[in-house]
Amino acid sequence: MLRVKGRVLVGPDEVRDELWAVDGRITYERPPGADRAGTVRGWVLPGLVDAHCHVGLDRHGPVDAATAERQALTDREAGTLLIRDAGSPSDTRWIDDRGDLPKIIRAGRHIARTRRYIRNYAHEIEPGDLVAYVAREARRGDGWVKLVGDWIDRSAGDLTACWPRGEVEAAIAEAHRLGARVTAHCFAEESLRDLVEAGIDCVEHATGLTEDTIPLFAERGVAIVPTLVNIATFPDLAAGGEAKFPRWSAHMRRLYERRYDTVRAAYDAGIPVYVGTDAGGSLAHGLVAGEVAELVKAGIPPLEALSATAWGARRWLGRPALEEGAPADLVVYDEDPRADVRVLAAPRHVVLDGRVVG
Ligand SMILES: [Zn+2]
Repeated sequence: MLRVKGRVLVGPDEVRDELWAVDGRITYERPPGADRAGTVRGWVLPGLVDAHCHVGLDRHGPVDAATAERQALTDREAGTLLIRDAGSPSDTRWIDDRGDLPKIIRAGRHIARTRRYIRNYAHEIEPGDLVAYVAREARRGDGWVKLVGDWIDRSAGDLTACWPRGEVEAAIAEAHRLGARVTAHCFAEESLRDLVEAGIDCVEHATGLTEDTIPLFAERGVAIVPTLVNIATFPDLAAGGEAKFPRWSAHMRRLYERRYDTVRAAYDAGIPVYVGTDAGGSLAHGLVAGEVAELVKAGIPPLEALSATAWGARRWLGRPALEEGAPADLVVYDEDPRADVRVLAAPRHVVLDGRVVG
């Protein structure tokens, strides 16, 4: 049994003085034997959500279990206790049996067009096979499927859409029939309208949103996970590809330069925005606090940016926050994270299933 005292942020505006973790679950009713419980104190948030975090992947492809464990522990240390993996080529099911590691919502393995993604990451297929692969990954995952919606087309020298409208529409319908939601990696403008009109549920990065597509996303409630800590690497990518693909390079720079305006315009239009770091490809794990700070820099109000990794993100993923009976997954801070989101960078305690793990 554990007692958590201080300011428990049950919701953005709902604060309680204490909770208990009994058998790994939250209760607000003082349990028998409460006097003997160990106590932690501070400002309490639900375990943070990183909605785009590749456990089981590094820059070269799938990793061994020891590496995946290190990744998950790094996320845990940062207060990330719920991960949507946004695609992983490794089998990370064993993590579900490890009560000391963050909980993972899987999206199966990425599905990309042949030779149109980072090597060793994805199933690389042609459009005729899309429905079958989406069905397969929908069955393997935990309610999400991940497509690569656009990527550099070397013959065009620029980002182009990966899937024809008809195939992607059939594939998304199949995922929905199987109870899975679909998200897609999209940097550019071009693929967005087709994906949204085909019924997609979420778009990763979404740097290509414009005044044409923003109302469409808003109207259909399609969420975005901007991964601004990843978009920060665009200038380096652009510099690296400059000589061979100057058009692509210039395009990446334009997307980078307007990234904060894009996110702010999306938020202002009512598009749901969530925190994701894109850890595990070229980025390190444990960057969740940095991404929240980036969203604030883009102009999202601090309380909303916090909700995008806390209460709101958990609701969106169908997981409880700090409700009675929920798993006692929570993070304790020295100060009020609502007043300054930079507080997230230094958790005082991390509690997973009612156990203090950090
Ligand atoms: Zn990713």
